[in-house]
Amino acid sequence: MSEPKGYNLIKLSDFDETDSRLSMPLYKRKKYVIIMARVHPGESNGSFMMQGLIKFLCGDSHSAKELRKRIVFKIIPMSNPDGVIAGNYRTCMCGHDLNRRYHEPDFRLHPTVVAIKQLTNELVFPKNADSEDVLLLVDMHGHSRKKNTFVYGPEVPLHHEKYYKIRIIPRLIADETSKFRYFSCKFRHERSKLKAARIVMWKQFNISNCYTYESSMHGFFDENNQNYEFDCSSYEEMGEHLVNGIYEYLMIIEEDERRRRLKDLEKRKKKKLKQQLEMKAALAVKEAKEKAEQSNVESPIKRTDTIRRKLTAQISTTREKSANVLNTENDQTKAKRVKKKNTNSKNGTSLAVNQVTEPDYPNGQDPENNPNEPPCSSRITSASPGLLP
Ligand SMILES: [Zn+2]
Repeated sequence: MSEPKGYNLIKLSDFDETDSRLSMPLYKRKKYVIIMARVHPGESNGSFMMQGLIKFLCGDSHSAKELRKRIVFKIIPMSNPDGVIAGNYRTCMCGHDLNRRYHEPDFRLHPTVVAIKQLTNELVFPKNADSEDVLLLVDMHGHSRKKNTFVYGPEVPLHHEKYYKIRIIPRLIADETSKFRYFSCKFRHERSKLKAARIVMWKQFNISNCYTYESSMHGFFDENNQNYEFDCSSYEEMGEHLVNGIYEYLMIIEEDERRRRLKDLEKRKKKKLKQQLEMKAALAVKEAKEKAEQSNVESPIKRTDTIRRKLTAQISTTREKSANVLNTENDQTKAKRVKKKNTNSKNGTSLAVNQVTEPDYPNGQDPENNPNEPPCSSRITSASPGLLP
């Protein structure tokens, strides 16, 4: 706990950083909760509720321990000490209702309001407008007409994303105790209360859960409509129930955050896996292309070599054959010519006539030169005697 300058402020949290970090896997730093009371000096039940809240938070209960690990409570037990000292019921020393001065507080006339707004400003900014670092702001009051305990909260339209969110804590407290009546809660911005803390802080600092925590100055009725009076311990209990409500709300939003992060993690994993698969597929396609290109380059060469070798062999074979044939023909022709020359020289016939009239004989052999055949004149005589003159 520490006591800052200007006004009484209690800073309540677990400041063992090692333990806090181990128990806070979701958030890098703690959130803040601002709780204040006695802006209206006559509503002393606010002080009892505050006392019960501080006692419970400093205790050994599970919810108190977990909250201290996760949250820094900025507690202002008396936001109008001058009015309390003066014995005023509703105003400060200068006669102003401080809960109607939050829109434009004067440093000299409303110093505690200025200090509270500065504190909130330091916690919220320079973070962006959607910052959720300040989880909750509660201003404790006493109500002189209505029974039970209830809250007044911010007004948002039904389709607004925070419509249900701002109703969670009141609903949780109502589930815990019949002293708190959910159906007495109001979520409206009445014209007469536009300058009150809960509306101004909600508008200026965008704190979603800005409540006036009202507790009856008289008593409460339970589920059976039995009336009971509030005493000091009952008011202190209402402070404890508020802490339990905050704890359960924190567990809900942590679970929500955990699910959101898991979804993001799954999305990132899927995206990474998809990228890896795409890279593998691209690599496989590239390798296949390279293999295809290599096979396409090698095969024509091999094919061309084979064809070239075959053609060379064929050409050489054909050349050899044609050379042999030519040699044979030349020898035969030479032999024929020599024989014809010899015959013509014997018969007195000119070589020119024989060359012109030389017929083609089968098997390349002239029957005239066949020594087994008879001479032409004798063949004609014996074969056709009637044709002779
Ligand atoms: Zn009040």
